[in-house]
Amino acid sequence: MKQTVISNSTVQVPPTFEGEDRDYFIALMEHVVQKNPGEPEFHQAVAEVLVSVVPYVNQHTKYKAAKILERLIEPDRTVIFRVSWEDDQRCVQVNRGYRVQFSNAIGPYKGGLRFHPSVSLGTFKFLGFEQIFKNSLTTLPIGAGKGGSDFDPKGKSDHEIMRFCQSFMTELARHIGKDVDVPAGDIGVGAREVSYLFGQYKRLNNRFTGVLTGKGIEFGGSLIRTEATGYGCVYFVQNMLQHSNQSIDGKTVVISGSGNVAQYAAEKAMQLGANVVTLSDSSGFIYEPAGFTQEKLEFVKALKLKGGRIKAYVDQFPSAQYHDGQRPWSIPCDVALPCATQNELDESEAQLLVKNGCIAVGEGANMPVTPEGIHVFLAAKIAYGPGKAANAGGVAISALEMAQNSMRLHWTRDEVETRLHSIMMSIHQQCVAFGSTPGTPYVNYVDGANIAGFRKVADAMMAFGIL
Ligand code: NDP
Repeated sequence: MKQTVISNSTVQVPPTFEGEDRDYFIALMEHVVQKNPGEPEFHQAVAEVLVSVVPYVNQHTKYKAAKILERLIEPDRTVIFRVSWEDDQRCVQVNRGYRVQFSNAIGPYKGGLRFHPSVSLGTFKFLGFEQIFKNSLTTLPIGAGKGGSDFDPKGKSDHEIMRFCQSFMTELARHIGKDVDVPAGDIGVGAREVSYLFGQYKRLNNRFTGVLTGKGIEFGGSLIRTEATGYGCVYFVQNMLQHSNQSIDGKTVVISGSGNVAQYAAEKAMQLGANVVTLSDSSGFIYEPAGFTQEKLEFVKALKLKGGRIKAYVDQFPSAQYHDGQRPWSIPCDVALPCATQNELDESEAQLLVKNGCIAVGEGANMPVTPEGIHVFLAAKIAYGPGKAANAGGVAISALEMAQNSMRLHWTRDEVETRLHSIMMSIHQQCVAFGSTPGTPYVNYVDGANIAGFRKVADAMMAFGIL
């Protein structure tokens, strides 16, 4: 009987794969699972890329002969370190820090830092691997990395956050640099944390360089960086809809999350005439049937800034309903934007979205849809924009922040947003170029993003010889 599941993992061999594609996929995945035990999210991220890239590599055998895929799935290096710090009760706390430097084939390592109690090495390997293709798609010269800590910023005082960030950076500083590795924020790492981290780096090195992005505007940050991931995601969805002669204007949009990405995805969707009806956090979701307004969104931004729960929204605006412990995918919509976290939209939720008439999905978060959920969207042939394309706007503006820092210049808001708009359009064009089915209008954005992202990095690796 044919093997359908990779040993010791939940990864499935794609049912359409035969012969060489099947054998190569199995060999690579067996290797990944055996070498990286207990890291299911990393296995999932690799499998999601191999689904598209294995057939491409089998058709372009120079990459196979040079073992580009075998090299790409192994990070350049992984750093794990202890972070000791003192809490407000003067008790010593110990956390673990990570930085996975995945690939610097096309530029310095680049990718965010996540502070969340659930993270492990596998989380950062999954995120760092995804970052390779995303950063390549931006058209900008940035390699891929990711890192962070199992530190939980929730409930910590400002002083505790500062002490943690300073201790974390004291170790991380020796591994990063403006031409080496340029971290940024992610879940749990916002403007405040980036500022503490940057301050400590500057103090340790006595150098003012663009070693982190997402910095405050006063000390080298770029305008639009805060908004970039959410805005970019909506621009990408707008491009997907325009490609099938539709518009986002007047569409009903369901969004998960209420953090940085969700807030600005909601803002841009509303600016473009859409009706955004949900937001969520890890406790539940709010449904605003008539749609959010900018004023209501400002309330959410202020609420989340002070660490509040989304539930508090309904006390202020009784027009909304709160659904405790639930995700928003049961609400009928035209467009779904998962903007919270990984694996937050599963097969049955994907089926429900399609059944309720959803025509486009744009991933604001990284890997928010499970493999089974992706299969539902692809089988239904709706416009499904994977995170490595749809949420690349954030890292793209980070790369523009690096450019402004190097030039010691500061571009205007309009200038940066115009560039964001054109970068998202270029990412969309690359997806169309590599994901279109000849003779049909359908675009498989998963294949498009994976193959376009892979090609540039693979060609750079070929040029360097065997490294
Ligand atoms: P934030 O920390 O600002 O917000 C995260 C949001 O997701 C919060 O609403 C949080 O709820 C919710 N959330 C977190 N964990 C869970 C969970 N397990 N279940 C349900 N909800 C959860 O992060 P960002 O908005 O910056 O990031 C969101 C996603 O976007 C992540 O996948 C990130 O990697 C990705 N991303 C972010 C970029 C950026 O520029 N910020 C760039 C590209 C991708 P609660 O408040 O309850 O914790």
